[in-house]
Amino acid sequence: MSENAVPAGTRRKIAFVGSECYPFVKTGGLGDVMYALPRALIRNNCEVRVILPLYNCMPMKYKEKLEWKGSFMMDLTMEGRTFFVGIMETEMDGVIYDFIDNKEFFDWGNPYTGLWEDIPKYCYFSKASLAVLNYLEWIPDVIHCHDWQASLVPMYLKTRFNVTPVGKAKSVLTIHNLRFQGICSIPHLKYWSGLPDYLFNYPVLKINEQECNMFKGGLAFADWITTVSATYAEEIQTPSYGEGLDSHLRYHQPKLSGIVNGIDTDIWNSDTDTLLEAPYNAENFLERKPADKQNLQSEMQLDQVAGRFVLGLVSRLTDQKGLDLIDAIFPDLMDGNTQVVVLGTGDPRYENAFRYYEQKYRGFVSANITYNEGIAHKIYAGADAFLVPSLFEPCGLTQLIAMRYGTVPIVRETGGLKDTVQPYNAELNDGNGFTFDKYLPAKLLEAVNNARNLFFGDRWHWDEMVRRNMQKDVSWEKSAAQYTELYESLCK
Ligand code: ADP
Repeated sequence: MSENAVPAGTRRKIAFVGSECYPFVKTGGLGDVMYALPRALIRNNCEVRVILPLYNCMPMKYKEKLEWKGSFMMDLTMEGRTFFVGIMETEMDGVIYDFIDNKEFFDWGNPYTGLWEDIPKYCYFSKASLAVLNYLEWIPDVIHCHDWQASLVPMYLKTRFNVTPVGKAKSVLTIHNLRFQGICSIPHLKYWSGLPDYLFNYPVLKINEQECNMFKGGLAFADWITTVSATYAEEIQTPSYGEGLDSHLRYHQPKLSGIVNGIDTDIWNSDTDTLLEAPYNAENFLERKPADKQNLQSEMQLDQVAGRFVLGLVSRLTDQKGLDLIDAIFPDLMDGNTQVVVLGTGDPRYENAFRYYEQKYRGFVSANITYNEGIAHKIYAGADAFLVPSLFEPCGLTQLIAMRYGTVPIVRETGGLKDTVQPYNAELNDGNGFTFDKYLPAKLLEAVNNARNLFFGDRWHWDEMVRRNMQKDVSWEKSAAQYTELYESLCK
């Protein structure tokens, strides 16, 4: 047991503050983490409350379950304008979720709108989160904030709230994706946040004479910074991955660490997954997984040929995800034996490219330009291999899900992809997938070809890798223990 391991009996109170959380609202991996990590923490002797905006876009079936806990008026802005703060609560498997209700801020968007409106929205949300904790008289030991939307929390905590009960809490700020930072004009943030003028300086919020950056300020004020893999923690301190904040992060490096994400192994369990045609596990996948492949081919209007190599892609369709590499090698992917199933939404450039390939290569390509959890499960189960050739990837969850479902990942060696997918080694009969380093189409194609060679040429070793991946521990347990140790070290 390491020095900071939790002494038996110490039950820490942790408040999570973030802008999305499965199953209420999810646009990407942040939503998964906000759901799964609190559940893992309560198994680690923590008491967890998750604070979220009550977005109008949240499905009615969840809204109906909420219980009213109270309301108050809170001042915001430089002028001290007052705004309504309602608290609606629900409990799910031991985790309490407090939703902040305010129609002026949360009535539109999906849940995000555009930076101009999102800045006031998340200034309000960050301040209201602390006010809610005081109102509920539930004072956490640690407030764990997620991404730029919650990044003013550490700043409010040490300024406007430092002499209130919640002021004694420590703060952790986790970087899930540094690309999004909450940058705006200095007057805009000064007005909405109501934060004191002295914080709008270069070490804290200011980035140039006109603009400031909410994430930068939060990183300066947080007691600890984490990001979602050890490699990304290193990468963001370099100009290539630092998104303009590399020197700021190098300065704060003594309080920065990487803890890799896991996945919720109850939701992502191929043996109990009711969305699958034929659930399977590491013992019976050889007999059962082919039925999921056939079902995927049939539902996706692909030629139902068992021997084809099916490549899956479930992703936001943005530059981050390496889609220009896939676009560049698409004709080479179409060798007559390979099928591609895409699920995602995003940049019209990629949406249209995949629609075009679906038309061009009928029976071989299926482009599902939508967000759909059910189809995602079917792809993870029905595909043979899974593409994640990201330009950068803080952690990445899809490769973890793919491995758990016995679908072999093909990834670029960056961020969490590098930390979670060990390259296949034929001599040692070891590794989890096919990897490449340089961000070049030829390198991705080489990795795909290596995968195809093994799939078509040496199925025994391929199946061994599938079995190994399905047995790999991709759960939250180890990482939750690391977070608990971190909280404990901050509370000392
Ligand atoms: P990011 O957070 O950068 O989008 P991650 O790999 O961390 O990427 O997490 C993506 C999560 O969102 C995964 O759970 C993935 O299955 C899910 N996802 C992404 N796009 C879709 C989609 N179009 N439909 C359903 N689920 C999706």
